[in-house]
Amino acid sequence: MLTITLLGTGSPLPDPDRAGPSTLVTGGDDQFLVDAGRGVLMRLAGAGSAAGQLRAVLLTHLHSDHITDLNDVITSRWVMTFEPTPLTIVGPVGTQDVVDHIVASLGPDIGYRIAHHDDLDYPPPVDVIEMTEGEIDLGGSVRVTCAPTDHKPVEPSIGYRFDFDGASVVAAGDTVPCAGLDSLCDGAQALVHTVIRKDMIRDIPVQRLVDTLDYHSSPEEAAQTAARADLETLVLTHYVPTFPSGGGDDWKALAAAHFAGTVELGDDLHRVDVHPPTS
Ligand SMILES: [Zn+2]
Ligand SMILES: [Zn+2]
Repeated sequence: MLTITLLGTGSPLPDPDRAGPSTLVTGGDDQFLVDAGRGVLMRLAGAGSAAGQLRAVLLTHLHSDHITDLNDVITSRWVMTFEPTPLTIVGPVGTQDVVDHIVASLGPDIGYRIAHHDDLDYPPPVDVIEMTEGEIDLGGSVRVTCAPTDHKPVEPSIGYRFDFDGASVVAAGDTVPCAGLDSLCDGAQALVHTVIRKDMIRDIPVQRLVDTLDYHSSPEEAAQTAARADLETLVLTHYVPTFPSGGGDDWKALAAAHFAGTVELGDDLHRVDVHPPTS
């Protein structure tokens, strides 16, 4: 079984009830953090986990809302583990440069802590793996693969697939429907997809919002991707615009018009268990 926990269901728009984009995928003893948006470690604590327990952080792309709390993951992992515990960060080409700059920005803090704690004599150990597509060697028992997505002009961007014990989950990140995502979904069971309500955003007279229509999927488009791969479950996240706790039935209905499987959405910490197929 794989477990999906929506840590942050929000978007770039600050929301008192929704953390920024981030999803936890767990298989056996292995935990993977997909993106690291605003408040990610608060929600990770809410899910009963912590930075020190992650096998890897997997970034779908380098938009700020998806990586803004990566510095907190790096620092908390470093300070709250008691021997060097390298944090593996996987992402598209460009990730090494971003991580190098984050660590550089933490320079004063790193200096203070090394000077203050006798048993902490090394900077945050971070291993970055830049990927375009294919299998990612992360050890452990979950097979992780990735493929290019289409979030242009944000380039490159990638989605991830997790296979464990017969169960399979895809985490898409921000993308329009594309062949790379279709290839990841082929034979999988569940897809976690970020979405925006194009029908609502289209009518808002703010060009900067309207600009976002062409590089995201709507619930309908995410549902069509799920239907093409004959998935069992579609999990929607990254709600633009937001909706109140307990709401979202209209979002589900838009997806259900294109996809016969189960459509999941909800508050931060909404959890979906994905079991291997029975037949
Ligand atoms: Zn994005
Ligand atoms: Zn986004």
